[in-house]
Amino acid sequence: MFKVAVIPGDGIGPEVVSEGLKILDALEETTSLRTRRTQLDVGSSRFLRSGELLTEEDLSILIKQDAIFFGSIGDPRVPTGILEKGILLAIRTRLDQFVNLRPIRSWGDYSRLKNDKPFNITFLRENTEDFYMGAGGIFEGGKGRVPLKIKRALYDLEMDLNALSSNQDDYAFEIGVLSRKGIERFADYVMSHAKRTGQERVTVVDKANVCTNLYGLWRDVFRDRAKRNSIDLEFVFVDSMAMALIRNPEHFGMIATPNMFGDILTDLGAEIQGSLGLSASGNINPFGVPMFEPVHGSAPDIAGRNRANPIGAILAVKLMLEHLGMPNLGNMIEDGVEHTIEKGIVTPDLGGTSTTFEVGDSVAEFLRSV
Ligand code: ATP
Repeated sequence: MFKVAVIPGDGIGPEVVSEGLKILDALEETTSLRTRRTQLDVGSSRFLRSGELLTEEDLSILIKQDAIFFGSIGDPRVPTGILEKGILLAIRTRLDQFVNLRPIRSWGDYSRLKNDKPFNITFLRENTEDFYMGAGGIFEGGKGRVPLKIKRALYDLEMDLNALSSNQDDYAFEIGVLSRKGIERFADYVMSHAKRTGQERVTVVDKANVCTNLYGLWRDVFRDRAKRNSIDLEFVFVDSMAMALIRNPEHFGMIATPNMFGDILTDLGAEIQGSLGLSASGNINPFGVPMFEPVHGSAPDIAGRNRANPIGAILAVKLMLEHLGMPNLGNMIEDGVEHTIEKGIVTPDLGGTSTTFEVGDSVAEFLRSV
């Protein structure tokens, strides 16, 4: 029995999560899978009602789960950043989910690329360090002192910056930090995931020719971990990677990236698949509670209209079951999605006329029939 916390969230979140749960229901009817689900009211409605974002009580429930299935958050009535930082980033940070997993693959004719060679790439992105540390500030008038305090599960890091410029301009800065231990635990996960999924080569992205300190350490650790695990490494600069993803995505199997480049490249990856609505992701702490979600946001423009593509959420369920040690069920879900797409049962974002329910029903029906 797996304990799963369900957070439908805002906008199209509840609609697509309900289709993901339909898939779990179908599998529970036909296989030995069993889940105990706890739904949490986290998102904009509660925030607007009570001012609460992620509470300690929510967290005390989340840490007892085997996994979290998350829809999306975001609401036009709430200024951008409040819900994202207060809920999504808070869960990732408090549960120290240091790996972001985002597979992308071609889905027949729906790929946006002219090149019709099929591709299937697993992106693994470091999720806690690099330029997204929140370590920044402004030196007004070109001088001053900015003390920085960075708190992570692995460490507390204090830095004290003093600036004195030759003019009185304002200077803004954002520091990228990587710790050896932070890279090591990420690289270890990349190696184990490569072995588990039969990848012999990992492509590692960085910009080590310009950010030599930051990505010099990154490369050292990756070389060491690849050697220990007998995995082939290929280093690619992020600018070349952006081109290669368009030119020959079929070359890549597993791509490991630092936080910021991963953020950008995985959106590019989602787009070449055909629609943002097809992408799923996992936020993983291999020693803690992972969270699985569709990549898209709350899409308020189409919320409540039964036209959201639920495939990202359905594939998030696939990632969750794979992570929980059931790759066979994950494969069945992917087969069900393939079957549904091949039959042309697709939502308007892919040029179809099917509804959110119909896509979910089709995948669930497939699972009941195999
Ligand atoms: P948020 O602020 O929550 O991120 P957003 O609208 O800025 O919301 P997304 O929700 O990711 O960002 O949506 C971007 C665009 O993609 C929107 O036009 C939306 O309708 C479309 N979109 C996103 N997800 C889906 C989906 N599952 N099915 C169909 N269209 C989608």
